[in-house]
Amino acid sequence: MSDTFSSRPIRVAVIGAGPAGVYASDILAKAQKKLDVQFSIDLFDRYPAPFGLIRYGVAPDHPRIKGIIKALHKVLDRGDIRLIGNVNIGTDLTIEDLRRHYDAVIFATGAIKDADMSLPGVELEGSYGAADFVSWYDGHPDYPREWPLEAQKVAVIGNGNVALDVARVLSKHADDLLETEIPDNVYEGLKTSPVTDVHIFGRRGPAQVKFTPLELRELSHSRDVDIVLYEEDFEFDEASDEAIKTNNQIKTMVNTLANWLVEQEEREAEASRRLHLHFLHQPVEILEGKNADGSGTGKVAGIRFERMELDGTGNARGTGEFVDYEVQAVYRAIGYFGSEIEGIPFDDKRGVIRNEAGRVLDENGEHIPGTYATGWIKRGPVGLIGHTKGDAMETIDCLINDVESLPQAEAPQEQAVVELLESRGVEYTTWEGWLKLDEHELGLGASFGPLADGNPRERVKVVPREEMVRISRAD
Ligand code: NAP
Repeated sequence: MSDTFSSRPIRVAVIGAGPAGVYASDILAKAQKKLDVQFSIDLFDRYPAPFGLIRYGVAPDHPRIKGIIKALHKVLDRGDIRLIGNVNIGTDLTIEDLRRHYDAVIFATGAIKDADMSLPGVELEGSYGAADFVSWYDGHPDYPREWPLEAQKVAVIGNGNVALDVARVLSKHADDLLETEIPDNVYEGLKTSPVTDVHIFGRRGPAQVKFTPLELRELSHSRDVDIVLYEEDFEFDEASDEAIKTNNQIKTMVNTLANWLVEQEEREAEASRRLHLHFLHQPVEILEGKNADGSGTGKVAGIRFERMELDGTGNARGTGEFVDYEVQAVYRAIGYFGSEIEGIPFDDKRGVIRNEAGRVLDENGEHIPGTYATGWIKRGPVGLIGHTKGDAMETIDCLINDVESLPQAEAPQEQAVVELLESRGVEYTTWEGWLKLDEHELGLGASFGPLADGNPRERVKVVPREEMVRISRAD
């Protein structure tokens, strides 16, 4: 054991207080009990509140997943991990500052941006990235309060769970979301929506969807929303048959879809809104509206797809047949993409920090001492929240194995970094600050009075960053 680390704790900065950062901090804090070293952990976030994508990515009507917040809350409430919020790495603190104050840095910055899609017409008004819409309905402090909800017919591209979230929120009646924590501006916005039809388009078949069974089934729970499927989209190739045979999730989802197809024949009353699921549709162009003089309106008026067929391997190829749908808005839910942090090697094809098992690598493939990554910024934006735990274990194992070779910080005192932030006038927030904001938001929910079911609103999110900071830092 290095002399330094036998006389003082190893200082670790974890960047990002979403599930990935909290899991990594928790695993590290617990690991020290079995080791002859101590860790002193600072968990940073750019937002005034912790919990990352659970607060700003999970749909408000998914309280089951939000239950994970309770577990994360418990970890941070123990007091052995110091939360420092409202700090932007790159401006408030530079990478050099981190190296000066910490022996190791773990990046857990996730992926919150939409992956790019090169599709003619993608720039038209009415064409949106799903991640932006999610940020709006989840009350992300850095997004505008207003969202244009003027479309009667909407297309959602993609067959993943984000497409389901977006389509469900767009098609639900706003009053049915009132029991959740949606901010008031989101409720008011959704309430004005004239939407009647939301179409979800997958480019492959029903056995190639990336949904998960629970999330798919949930579509049928929306009041006054009919699910509509199309028999001609139910194509299965050899790879599909194999997937149905060997993968229980796929089998369940294909059964769910097939049952809905049958049930729609027997449906009597018509709902006022419809949610259509289409397969084997590859988007080729978002269509622009035309003015009377033939010039373009600059706005979405439709979307063109090529009909696809499965090629035997579960992939799809074009048939040469094209079909247009009249829609006034298009949401692209084709996956998230990580953001680069200046000074940290980034794989811009995959949108991840270049790493091996969590050790960040330089351009020669060498580990940059004391530098690690975990979560979506390490492995890409795939998998459920729980998968992030295994990922964090792998990264922390690497860090523990590297303890002897960690570079040693010049200014490792716990107070030094806080003094630096104060000297720069950074209004950082703390765990105690979050407890105040938490109480405030719960109080706002309770003050709303009982809903139709007799229960009060669970919470109303505070959205403006300045207000979040003010409440968190109040005496
Ligand atoms: P995802 O699961 O990777 O799905 C992306 C979808 O977009 C796929 O159907 C993909 O089709 C399609 N796609 C990609 N590029 C396309 C293109 N150029 N044209 C047309 N379609 C294209 O991504 P996600 O929905 O963003 O979800 C990310 C992760 O978060 C997933 O692991 C998801 O399960 C998780 N999540 C979970 C929940 C939940 O409630 N449990 C909610 C949200 C997100 P191909 O398959 O053909 O590539």
